[in-house]
Amino acid sequence: MAIKIGIVGYGNLGKGVETELALNPDMELTGVFTRRDPAQVPSNAAVYPLDEITDFKDKIDVLILCGGSKSDIPVQAPVLQQNFHTVNSYDNHAEIPAHFDSINETALTNQTVGVIATGWDPGLFSLNRLVAESVLPKGETYTFWGKGVSQGHSDAIRRVAGVKLGVQYTLPNDDLITEIKEGKEVSYTKTSSHKRVCYVVPEEGADKEGITKDIQTMKDYFAEYESEVHFINEAEFYQQHTGMPHGGRVIRRGYTDEANMAVYEFSLDLDSNPQFTAAAAIAYARAAYRLAQEKQYGAKTVFDIAPAYLSPKSGAELRKELL
Ligand code: NAP
Repeated sequence: MAIKIGIVGYGNLGKGVETELALNPDMELTGVFTRRDPAQVPSNAAVYPLDEITDFKDKIDVLILCGGSKSDIPVQAPVLQQNFHTVNSYDNHAEIPAHFDSINETALTNQTVGVIATGWDPGLFSLNRLVAESVLPKGETYTFWGKGVSQGHSDAIRRVAGVKLGVQYTLPNDDLITEIKEGKEVSYTKTSSHKRVCYVVPEEGADKEGITKDIQTMKDYFAEYESEVHFINEAEFYQQHTGMPHGGRVIRRGYTDEANMAVYEFSLDLDSNPQFTAAAAIAYARAAYRLAQEKQYGAKTVFDIAPAYLSPKSGAELRKELL
């Protein structure tokens, strides 16, 4: 029987989940849940008001939470966790430990599973940082993002007062990447190795200086980085800034003895960040379903879930085909 999925929130990620579910024959979409008037949500699936979601408690196996990390997930996830197994792509790294504790407590009390912070970063990048560091205990790990649009940061910009439209590009320092792989000594910090470039369409009469200040001082998102804010008009925004490519790489430069270097690299090159993030969340929804069947309740991260739980294949098939 197919795993029944509900989508909460229909933005880029919610839409991505709908698209990617079609590639997973062991799953079916029961419905989309939104805070908006369902008639205004352009999904091909059945769309329901979020207020009515509790009626679906026995009709949905796993909810994929697709709200924004800044304001939606912290509010929605703990409430939905009371009645549903959930998966989210919460990406506010600094707040993940507190988010884990909050979901874990509710999930254990209500005998549900909550897989948090899936996607690619956090998510698959985190998993690769862990594997690389465990295999190569002597060495350094470097993460680079971009060039690409960060949905989490774009979402944060759009919530600043006076911002009509906004997008944020993350640019990596390519010279540094080359030097790391060549074994040269580098000075790397997460914040100095990237720049954040924002393009903003202001509301009419908005205070541009105020917007720039609000963005550049936003803790955990922009304050720690070199962050540029550029104001553009709506036409330019729609002509040049509506794609959602992204990617990046995790590199561990390790040493297997005094002389031998080992470079572990995991990289992603994505035409569509939300579709790929959705695809990862779906694989973890399969894991959430299985964990729930085994009564392994509580909050989980990518670190806690064995890889075989992600695959629709049996253990025997995996051992034969992929090991
Ligand atoms: P988004 O498009 O801004 O959507 C967020 C929410 O806003 C939606 O769930 C939707 O809720 C509402 N919304 C969307 N379009 C709307 C519209 N036209 N009018 C009014 N409300 C609208 O955000 P997103 O791009 O889907 O990204 C969601 C989150 O995914 C990001 O905040 C980011 O944290 C996370 N993410 C994580 C990773 C990772 O690797 N872990 C990667 C990418 C993104 P309603 O339907 O309820 O209104």
